[in-house]
Amino acid sequence: MKWFIFCSFIFINVAAKRTFEGYKVYKISPKNVNELNFVKDLERDGIGQLWDDQVNVDFEARIMVKPDNVENFLNKMDSSGVGYKVMIGDLQRVINEQMQPNQIRSSSYLSYSWDRYHDLDTIYKWLDEIVEQYPNIVTSVVMGQSVEGRDIKGIVINYKPEKEHKTIGMIEGTLHAREWISPAVVNWIVKEFLTSDDPGVRIMAENIEWHIFPVVNPDGYVYTFTTNRMWRKNRSTYNFQSCSAFGLDDDMSNGIDLNRNFNFHWMSTGASDNPCTNTYAGPSAFSEPEARAIANYVLGLKDQGRFIYYYGFHSYTQLFVIPYSHVNISGVLEADNYSDMYEIAVRGAEKAKERYNTTYRVGIAAEILYPMSGTSFDWVKHEANVAVSYLIELRDLGEYGFLLPPAQIIPNSLEIMDALIEMDRVTRLLGYYSKSTLILGSFNALVLSIVLAILIR
Ligand SMILES: [Zn+2]
Repeated sequence: MKWFIFCSFIFINVAAKRTFEGYKVYKISPKNVNELNFVKDLERDGIGQLWDDQVNVDFEARIMVKPDNVENFLNKMDSSGVGYKVMIGDLQRVINEQMQPNQIRSSSYLSYSWDRYHDLDTIYKWLDEIVEQYPNIVTSVVMGQSVEGRDIKGIVINYKPEKEHKTIGMIEGTLHAREWISPAVVNWIVKEFLTSDDPGVRIMAENIEWHIFPVVNPDGYVYTFTTNRMWRKNRSTYNFQSCSAFGLDDDMSNGIDLNRNFNFHWMSTGASDNPCTNTYAGPSAFSEPEARAIANYVLGLKDQGRFIYYYGFHSYTQLFVIPYSHVNISGVLEADNYSDMYEIAVRGAEKAKERYNTTYRVGIAAEILYPMSGTSFDWVKHEANVAVSYLIELRDLGEYGFLLPPAQIIPNSLEIMDALIEMDRVTRLLGYYSKSTLILGSFNALVLSIVLAILIR
């Protein structure tokens, strides 16, 4: 009897967690519109699930194929003549490997180490430890609750609480659940702000009041640990429906893509009204409590001082994305200090490359990714008039994608920190720390960029 209970317990646990055994991930690069439509049809017909939100001609798409569909997929690929390559032969094996700590001893700070990925409880406990460690500098903050009632918890780092004119920065991690490198890098930044001796880090840490939230989608993040490693959205069940027409589990209809739910050009491009997709924008703008919590928090900060930074960390594809994401190349100047943001990001990307030769591309979404709308960083840029707002896509370029090995956590963090220091330096040189030059005219900015380019080189 005891054994029966024990075995039942095991069975329940195993059944609850989705396995990706035998799943394969292929790389496909459609060369023309016909090939592009062929790739889109593979997803529409339920043969595979794209890892990318959207695909384009000459874009390297990743498609995940379950074991039952592999033969059909290969037949279709071979008869179509579209080029493809297997990237991951057994997805579950790579998922398991990602859970294994890095063999090389890594640095840690208090109870948190960078040799592995950590669950939500560990991250939240660590934030509490930091508050205890730095009672005069760090305070705990909860911006709101998720659909399932979890706190969206963060910290405020303020070295000069008595300072009258505040300069404010905010960091958002893990809007998308499966992008585990995001909270790892955000937590590294927290550690650097509190412990680094680097003069560039000290300037950034001590002159800006930082509001840092490593996991703004806590339900989704927990779900990637307990049930489905590949989950992206939040866990709203409001729109539950059948997804069998797309060859998907009905669970796929749960959840809203939080980075399509913000009320700025909501549902205008690169977003879906189909709950069974990964880019489902929700029934209406700001339908989700997580998106509303971020928005309300940002609006609360807006009038407290000069709000100069908003960084949203995602993965993967190594990009610094500049607002706005719904416009095409001819519309870049809709963001009035686009040329400054471009300059700052290019300098950051150059710096990031120096350490390990990792390339980060810079531009608006339409240029380097695909147009999209309803994103947090665009909304923040527009509504709070934040000087410098970026969506940063971390490592890698698709070799592991969301399943980046823990051995890359520190290298990725180091190169991003290099970039942030440089970006802060250029932001300062451009005058964004001082009140009178918060909004520079495009002409001034252009002249200054040229002068800077000469000086800095
Ligand atoms: Zn993302």
